[in-house]
Amino acid sequence: MSAQIIDGTALSARLRADIGARAEALAAAGRRPGLAVILVGDDPASAVYVRNKVKACQAHGLHSVLETYDGALSEAALLARIAALNADPAIHGILVQMPLPAHIDPHKVIAAIATAKDVDGFSVHSAGALMAGLPGLRPATPYGCMKLIESTGQALRGKHAVVLGRSNTVGKPMALLLLQAHATVTVCHSATPDLGRYTREADVVVAAVGRRDTLRADMVKPGAIVIDVGMNRNDAGRLCGDVDFAAVREVAGWITPVPGGVGPMTITMLLANTLQAAAAQAGPPA
Ligand code: NAP
Repeated sequence: MSAQIIDGTALSARLRADIGARAEALAAAGRRPGLAVILVGDDPASAVYVRNKVKACQAHGLHSVLETYDGALSEAALLARIAALNADPAIHGILVQMPLPAHIDPHKVIAAIATAKDVDGFSVHSAGALMAGLPGLRPATPYGCMKLIESTGQALRGKHAVVLGRSNTVGKPMALLLLQAHATVTVCHSATPDLGRYTREADVVVAAVGRRDTLRADMVKPGAIVIDVGMNRNDAGRLCGDVDFAAVREVAGWITPVPGGVGPMTITMLLANTLQAAAAQAGPPA
């Protein structure tokens, strides 16, 4: 039987309607949530990402500022801009689009963002809070994956979840969120000799590798939940994920498509984080 499609676009629309209403309520109380997005350099993919983030803010009642800088911007100048935004009461979230030019240390930049405004959830503080099970801002992509899994109505407690990929931005926080939801978690990576040995035992597979057809039908347990984070191009140049969608959907119980699965949820959870940050930040109305 064919898997149920987990529609990230539809779930996103539902969550964004709620975010819009909550943003208006905060605005009425004198604190419209505000996001500052910084882009350094002229990477075309990054330019599209930041434009989409700003557009989503505008469409849902969030104040947004897009700052674009020449690729020659010095690290010191970028750190000074972040310090100014840290002190700006109209800005509750700061996002610096990665990757940065080679002469800028991304770790230094992330560390410069005030913890309360770290809406990407990439700082050592936010990562530590997640590891310790403390409240905080969670990285948007794995946070969105959790919402997609939640939308199936299947409880994670006691289930075996396998994460393919161990990046700081997706794989590792994904594993920690699944652990927090009481799943038993296995993390695989490029040095894992036989991915199928693990995925065949999994009730939930989250693929975040960046290589198409990494998860094939013979690697999936019948009825499993499959979340595809990957963004790749197929031979025809079309967007595809890490999962062989056509074949895996015949085995899995639930599956996210690419596009229309994890992608829209990432921006939605960024908006949710900005709202959370605005609600948490005390002080005089902006
Ligand atoms: P990344 O930093 O390149 O990490 C990829 C991970 O996959 C690494 O941990 C790597 O292992 C592992 N890996 C590579 N080849 C493998 C293999 N053959 N078998 C098993 N594991 C393998 O990428 P990322 O930032 O986590 O992103 C992963 C994918 O998700 C990319 O396609 C990216 O474009 C996409 N993405 C999508 C969204 C969205 O909103 N839809 C957001 C973020 C990322 P090692 O650690 O051993 O190198």
